[in-house]
Amino acid sequence: MDEGLKGFHFSAPFMTAPSRVYVPSVTEDDGGAIGLGVFSSEETAWKVLRQFLRKSHLMSLNRSDLVIWEVDQVGESGMTVLSSMHCRDCPVCKRKTFWIDLDSFSAMCAGEACEAWIEESTIEPGKIDLGWPPTRFLKQTESLEDAISELNDVGAQLEAAGRTPNDAFTSIPEE
Ligand SMILES: [Zn+2]
Repeated sequence: MDEGLKGFHFSAPFMTAPSRVYVPSVTEDDGGAIGLGVFSSEETAWKVLRQFLRKSHLMSLNRSDLVIWEVDQVGESGMTVLSSMHCRDCPVCKRKTFWIDLDSFSAMCAGEACEAWIEESTIEPGKIDLGWPPTRFLKQTESLEDAISELNDVGAQLEAAGRTPNDAFTSIPEE
C-alpha cells in the first residue's frame, strides 16, 4: 500500500463521506491531464502531488493544479483552485523541473539532488528567501525576479566549475 492511501484511511477512520475532496492533477506539455486521485485531506493531496513532481525530470510537465471540490454541489461554484504551479527550467540545474506558484511567490526545483527553492519570508512579509540545499546557500531578496537571478548566479557558478546538470550534486563545491 502506498503512503498516500495510508494517509487517506488515517484521516477518515470512521469512513464518513467527506463533504469536500482535494484533487491534485498535472498537465503534460501536449495538454494531456493526469489525475492523481481524490483525497479527503489537503495534507495527503499535497503529499501525493509533491511525490509525483519528483518525476518531473523524467516527463514533460507543464503545470500542476490542486483543486477543492464540494461534494454534491452542482456546477463550478463547487470548485476552488487551491494552487496552480507552472513548470519552468530550473535556474540552477537547468532541467525543466522548477515549479513556480506566482500567487504565493514560491518555487521549488523537483529535480533530483537540486531542490533549489524560493519562498516569501514568514518573518518579513514581502521579502523573498531563497536557497540551494546542496551548498546550504541561503539569501534574501526584495522580489521574486531578484530571487530567480540569484539562483541563476548559483547555476552560472556551477557551470563555471565544470558541473553539468546530470552530475549528482553530492559534494560542496570548493571556494
Ligand atoms: Zn534544479
